[in-house]
Amino acid sequence: MNVLAFFFIDPMYFIIVGPAILLAMWAQWMVKSAYARGSKVQARSGLSGAETAQRILNVYGVADVGIEPVKSFLGDHYDPKNKMLRLSPDVYNGRSLSALGIAAHEVGHAIQHAHSYGPLAIRNGLVPMASVGSQLSMAFIFGGFILSMFTGGSFGMSLAVVGLGMFALVVLFQLVNLPVEFNASSRARSILVEQGIVTPQENVIVGKVLNAAAMTYVAATITAIMTMLYYAYIIFGRRN
Ligand SMILES: [Zn+2]
Repeated sequence: MNVLAFFFIDPMYFIIVGPAILLAMWAQWMVKSAYARGSKVQARSGLSGAETAQRILNVYGVADVGIEPVKSFLGDHYDPKNKMLRLSPDVYNGRSLSALGIAAHEVGHAIQHAHSYGPLAIRNGLVPMASVGSQLSMAFIFGGFILSMFTGGSFGMSLAVVGLGMFALVVLFQLVNLPVEFNASSRARSILVEQGIVTPQENVIVGKVLNAAAMTYVAATITAIMTMLYYAYIIFGRRN
């Protein structure tokens, strides 16, 4: 932790990554407030999130995907391994526009999976490498950096460069994730209106919830890119 503190009091960290962190915080606030506003409006169709999800799966002929409630708040996700849609209690049982929008977005991922949507396959393929990258990149970068400070040799810096490469996989994952998320939301919105589950006026509120959620992915991607640039700056800036 002391090692991290050493880097995080570096003013260059705040100059390079700070604005992205502020953007991410703003996006988090936006999604919470859009979700809260959409939660207050009940859909005229009267369907719950789970009923909405089931109806869309039926329309698209996707018969092998299950739907189950999951305890965590905003923990909604589609699990491609077990072909399971997991919806948080407010979304599973809720009949608000927020509940329907999020349920439809998650079904969007199930339809992407059923239709072998390219970016989703690439994203899922990147998951193992990106998770190793996110767990080990910091250890390589900071470990290598400290090693080079004490030994003065280039071996430590080589470790740091390997760590930077690992972090690049995290950035790649975030970049591939963006079209996957935008596509799931645009599918969701058009299906909801097509199927008469929400009216075009209600769709405006659904759009605000899903666009705010998409902003959090954009902010996370920008944060990852700027963090990678900061690492590159401390590694290569020191070398010269
Ligand atoms: Zn999603």
